Amino acid sequence: MNTFISIQPEPDTRLRQWMNHEQDRFLETHLTSAALQTHCDAHYLFGMPMHWMRDWPNAHGLFIEQASQATLTCVDRHVYADFCLGDTGAMFGHSPQPVAKVLVDSAFQGLTCMLPAKCAAEVGESLSEVFGLPMWQMALSASDANRFVLRWVRAITGRQKILVFDGCYHGAVDETLVDRLDSGEVVDRDSVLGGLHSHAVSTRVVPFNDLEALQAALSDGQVAALLAEPALTNCGLVLPEENYWQQAQALCQRYGTLLIMDETHTVSTALGGWSRLHGVVPDFLVVGKAVAAGLPCAVYGFSEAVAERMRQAKQQSAPGHSGIGTTLSGNMLALAVLGASLSQLHTPSSYEAMQSGADRLASGLRQSILKSGRPWTLTRLGARMELQFMPHSPKNAGDVRAAEQSQLQQLLHLFMLNRGVVITPFHCMMLISPVTTSAQIDHLLSVFDEFLEGLAQLNL
Ligand code: PMP
Repeated sequence: MNTFISIQPEPDTRLRQWMNHEQDRFLETHLTSAALQTHCDAHYLFGMPMHWMRDWPNAHGLFIEQASQATLTCVDRHVYADFCLGDTGAMFGHSPQPVAKVLVDSAFQGLTCMLPAKCAAEVGESLSEVFGLPMWQMALSASDANRFVLRWVRAITGRQKILVFDGCYHGAVDETLVDRLDSGEVVDRDSVLGGLHSHAVSTRVVPFNDLEALQAALSDGQVAALLAEPALTNCGLVLPEENYWQQAQALCQRYGTLLIMDETHTVSTALGGWSRLHGVVPDFLVVGKAVAAGLPCAVYGFSEAVAERMRQAKQQSAPGHSGIGTTLSGNMLALAVLGASLSQLHTPSSYEAMQSGADRLASGLRQSILKSGRPWTLTRLGARMELQFMPHSPKNAGDVRAAEQSQLQQLLHLFMLNRGVVITPFHCMMLISPVTTSAQIDHLLSVFDEFLEGLAQLNL
């Protein structure tokens, strides 16, 4: 989820009428969902267990009866090919069999006791094997993991400032919920509720793929850490330029700034994530969402050198609350499921299947775009891809903002939903799981062609 300041073109009447028509179609065919929405309205703020669930283009909630493999079935018995996959939480498919089995079995062995489960040692070893870093800590969500890592980096560097990229999203992490204006000034994000302190003073923000700006932000030696996704995935998809990260990391090292790679989404690039594939070894690595197949669990890893600094910081501080960790972090159930997920899902064969499905989808979408003559682009990173309404892949968040067309995007989402395809809301991301079928991919492609034809018929 990302609120994103953008420049919108004027609303188009033809698109609005088409949207109204799609909205009517949704309403007519989702009567059970409508009834559940009315019921939920009485008990939930904005009628949803979590208010973002309202941020889809459909007029009311789409209530899910079952999520299995890469398929969703709603309470009105419509079946959807799911390319959103819980915004990456279900990247390996919904309720993968081996994990579901361990989940059930482990549920009888104890859920939580604030003591390490027997499987902890084995799980730690698997984390190191999959992601390459030797030392680990647990959290319940990627937001939590990022918050905890930010505390650690301040504690071990004695520096207060952090640096993020324009267009970033790292979860509900106060320090990162800031925006960079065109003038370069950093401001607190307008949409954030209940903020107490201004983070604009302690967080620096630079454009992605700009080494000069990065150097300028680091050169006074005040920045504790750069918290970054290897590729921006929350303002569309923005890939790093060649060798960008090698040089960016060298700059961090020169100025004593730690590098935190948040691979919560980019773990879809390859086994072990983008940084493992490209040989960039960060000081900290954060992975949430799919790390334990969508169960509440996140991890952060770090090098032995960093671990030594963390030990010292902890030993030198007063005994008592560290402000890091929560009661249920590293609970028995999460550890067991994490272990099963690492050994049975984070495997070469999962990623081979994801890549080959992504090849099929990307080439089909590119052909359709080419045939339509539209100045649109498909940007891809491993199993993840993003349709962008611009002629070239963006270099930074500014490029994404300049090309944003939210009216068209919302219509595309609803059009697809009405035809049995779910793509990620807020932007046009599509993700392939190892269990996404060729038939599902071909279905998405034919719906996309139908959408392009509809645009052409309206002379849009
Ligand atoms: N990091 C990244 C890169 C994310 O995209 C997100 C969520 N979209 C988060 C962290 C936060 O994840 P969660 O909401 O599960 O805490």
